[in-house]
Amino acid sequence: MLTKKHAKNTKSHSENWKFQTRETQNFPDLCESLLTNIPNTRRREGQIKMLRTVAEILAGEREQKYLAVEGGTGVGKSFGYLLPATLHAVLTGRRVIVATGTKNLQEQLYEKDAPMLAGLVGNITGKNPTIAILLGKYNYLCQEALMRRIKSLVDLGCDLTDVEERELDFLHNIEQWFSGGGSGVYDHLPIMQGPKADEEIQARWWSRISAADDSIDCKECGFNNCPFARARENAATADVVIANHHLVATDYVLRDKIDFSLFAVKGEDPPEILIIDEAHDFPDAFRGSFETYLSTHRWSRLNKDIQKTIDTVSWFAKGNEDFMSRALSLQEEYLGFAAQIEANIKALFHWANTEMKKRSTQQWLMFPGDQYPNLKEIREPLSRARGCLYTAMQLCDDMKSWASVKEDEEKGVSLKHQTKLLGRIEERVSELDAALCRCAGLTEHYRTIGATGDAVWFDGRKFTACPVRVADKLAGLWDSYENVILTSATLFPFPQSDGFEWFREEYGFKRGEIVMGVVPSPFRYFDQMTAFVATHPDLKASNGDTRAQKIAEFVNRAYKYPGGIMVLFTSYHEMNAVVEHVAPTVPDDRILLVQGRNGGKADLLARFKSHGNAVLFGVSSFWQGVDIPGDALSTLIVAKIPFPRPDEPLIEALSWLAGRTAWKTVIVPLTAMTLRQGVGRLIRTENDRGYVVITDPRAIGKHRWFLKECLPVPLYETK
Ligand code: SF4
Repeated sequence: MLTKKHAKNTKSHSENWKFQTRETQNFPDLCESLLTNIPNTRRREGQIKMLRTVAEILAGEREQKYLAVEGGTGVGKSFGYLLPATLHAVLTGRRVIVATGTKNLQEQLYEKDAPMLAGLVGNITGKNPTIAILLGKYNYLCQEALMRRIKSLVDLGCDLTDVEERELDFLHNIEQWFSGGGSGVYDHLPIMQGPKADEEIQARWWSRISAADDSIDCKECGFNNCPFARARENAATADVVIANHHLVATDYVLRDKIDFSLFAVKGEDPPEILIIDEAHDFPDAFRGSFETYLSTHRWSRLNKDIQKTIDTVSWFAKGNEDFMSRALSLQEEYLGFAAQIEANIKALFHWANTEMKKRSTQQWLMFPGDQYPNLKEIREPLSRARGCLYTAMQLCDDMKSWASVKEDEEKGVSLKHQTKLLGRIEERVSELDAALCRCAGLTEHYRTIGATGDAVWFDGRKFTACPVRVADKLAGLWDSYENVILTSATLFPFPQSDGFEWFREEYGFKRGEIVMGVVPSPFRYFDQMTAFVATHPDLKASNGDTRAQKIAEFVNRAYKYPGGIMVLFTSYHEMNAVVEHVAPTVPDDRILLVQGRNGGKADLLARFKSHGNAVLFGVSSFWQGVDIPGDALSTLIVAKIPFPRPDEPLIEALSWLAGRTAWKTVIVPLTAMTLRQGVGRLIRTENDRGYVVITDPRAIGKHRWFLKECLPVPLYETK
């Protein structure tokens, strides 16, 4: 279990900073005066309020150790937490992690806000804070994997296909880029020249040469200058680390399992202060760390790796009859078990597909009792296969002793490497077995979908298992830090009413241990935004095309207003239906950009912003994390109230758990949060002006009450 062995006395910290700064001001006053003296910045009361509360929590001036602040758009949240956190880190030595949900915000903090504040803090304390960024492993090049992949292609000699030759070129380009001083970070990769196919090669190959590759063993790595190791070293000692939600969740799991922290040097304490921005997304990222899956592809990859390793071990046996015969019988034995596993996994997937067809659903959620009857038939040969790996390790050990007698040092080193590889593969077999139990064999432990249980579902290709509720696990995470600050533009579904209680329970905080509050946006929404709900009967039509045509009319009507139009949909199906009606009538001075047709999210947003008069159609990922200030977005059309799909596995499981309160405690809060995020795309600065049109007549029916709470302005009706 995690303990707060690193926890220090907060009072002594407070004394420490007073001593060091020789100031009589208390910490919140000091932070405020620093903030208000930043040149060329406007005084924002909401920001000051947030900054002072963060400072009070960090300095131990409040009873509570945790804080949740919903800060409306334009409050200046990042300075509100980053300034006190950076100053506090320098004065007390208590290290800070700031975790964001998106790479955009992570980069903005690391490249703009943090260096600016670090300079400021350095000026008044005489000590420059160190700031580091840590990205997910996938973002960093692994030289070990790169060289191995190059070698395996080079070894094919003249047997390379055209595609393999281009792959080899790509890998050589990466090698040159890195040896010529490239950072080894994916986003810094120079654009490789070549046909479009090379982009596909890049996308396909990067994961195999990144630090996230399954087959690498960092402990055995002989390369210096590893980009991931370098980033980790910086993060392990920095005063402030800018990370992301997933890394914080992974760090928690690693600390709990193997007492290893991504954010600390071995033997040293991990950071004590955790700040989570875009915190409305954190529970989902956190839940993802406890998710597992079972697919035929996962088994095939593992099987391939096992066979390859056993073949390599057999190759080392050449020249010694005894070893050769042991290796041959090992190969034979393993192939027998592998065939059994293969056949039984096929049978499992056949069973699941048949069950799914019987229920005629797209995703089949497994409730207690849905248990694969022949699980033993997979688990037994899997356990025997694992036995083969132990036999292979024993063979490696015996060959190592033989190599040392023969003084064949090179062979000894290679065999040592094989033993390590076998160990790692054995871990993967255990992980697969655990996934199998969670996904297809609801054992007693997972028999109930409850606080400790999983929702398990099958989507035709794979089984997925993940915990439904994570409040207890989150409580453990908070408890492993001295202070936790959570913030977002939407943290409480209904801040005016009972949103705080919902938040506290969902996020696993006990009563009385957290301060919760809302800092309203400084914008004058009544002047800046006008909101309509469209009530035309065609919008209620069960015929999708009639409805699509009506939504298209609203897009047409928006053309008379200058500036960009964004339409947010809840399904690709409806979006594509509306595109059919809109595409032929787009005026010459506008362009139509459609998610999934005209590029990725980042590319579409860049074009939408720079055009200034474009029409953008997007689904779920466009409802949040989109920042388009100015006239480039002046009309926002919300096609439908974003109720979650009731047959989405996690929603179904959560609703099942909540029983009669599902509507109030699951559906409405999630809908409100998404809707508030979506509407929040329109007004991004105090000079922005625009219209919101909701083309869903349900907004004036029984759902009117919560629509009223989600919008900062009154909702007018229009036909
Ligand atoms: S330390 Fe690990 S990630 Fe880095 S180059 Fe070596 S094997 Fe790859």
